[in-house]
Amino acid sequence: MAKSVAKPAETIVEENNKAAVAAETSEIAEIHVSVDHGKDETEISIEKKLIALYSLQQNDSKIDRIKIVRGELPLEVEDLEDEVAGLETRIDNFIQEIEMLEKQVTDKQLAIKESQGLIKRYEEQQNNVRNNREYDALTKEIEFQSLEIQLAEKRIREFSAQLAMRKEEIENAQNELTDRRNDLEAKRSELTDIVAETELEEKELHLMSERQQKMIEERLLIAYKRIRKNARNGLAVVPVERDACGGCFSYIPPQRQLDIKLHKKIIVCEFCGRILVDKELADSLV
Ligand SMILES: [Zn+2]
Repeated sequence: MAKSVAKPAETIVEENNKAAVAAETSEIAEIHVSVDHGKDETEISIEKKLIALYSLQQNDSKIDRIKIVRGELPLEVEDLEDEVAGLETRIDNFIQEIEMLEKQVTDKQLAIKESQGLIKRYEEQQNNVRNNREYDALTKEIEFQSLEIQLAEKRIREFSAQLAMRKEEIENAQNELTDRRNDLEAKRSELTDIVAETELEEKELHLMSERQQKMIEERLLIAYKRIRKNARNGLAVVPVERDACGGCFSYIPPQRQLDIKLHKKIIVCEFCGRILVDKELADSLV
């Protein structure tokens, strides 16, 4: 290929009308100006930059994934702990209620026995009365105690119904508690495993990221970090996939795709501002 004079004016990134992107564009354009080599060299240089950027992106995305996985687990564990504690409290309350109801039933049973004893005594006394007035007074006492027994029996029925209900509720809560405890145990061990497993991996990825960052010019790195921070999913460098930006899925015209493939300049997506690489370059780094 014939060498030709590089044209600094031919900026790395094509002009676009988005203000946010324009800021990135000017920075990247400046970088290009500083790399004033012959065209082939520029191609190689740009290709190296794109490779370095995309490698860094892949590495950083791995760190993001670890953080996402671990980021949800502690919350899930916390939620389950709260749920388990809530169920335990609910069961404790039910147990207390049941004990109280059982005591109330026993009290009423004792009261019935007492009334029955009194009735028996009054009936015996009725056999030895001296006059009708005494007999009637005892009859009234017997009627009163009979009513007391009826009332106590009614209360026992009510308490028993409440007891049955509470016992059913306690059983349901206990089943739920068993399930939640199992879930909690599983999530806890999952979290422990992930932390143990990813701690080293994450450390290595961070070291790798630092090494990769050293290979990228500061201005380009600043642009990368800024785009990554603002971009959804932390993607600052994306491949062209099915004629679209791999970040925002906007259509990329064939001429622009060709420009991306030529590696003559760093091109960003007109719509989302992400740095674009061709699929061939991306695939070669997988
Ligand atoms: Zn885009």
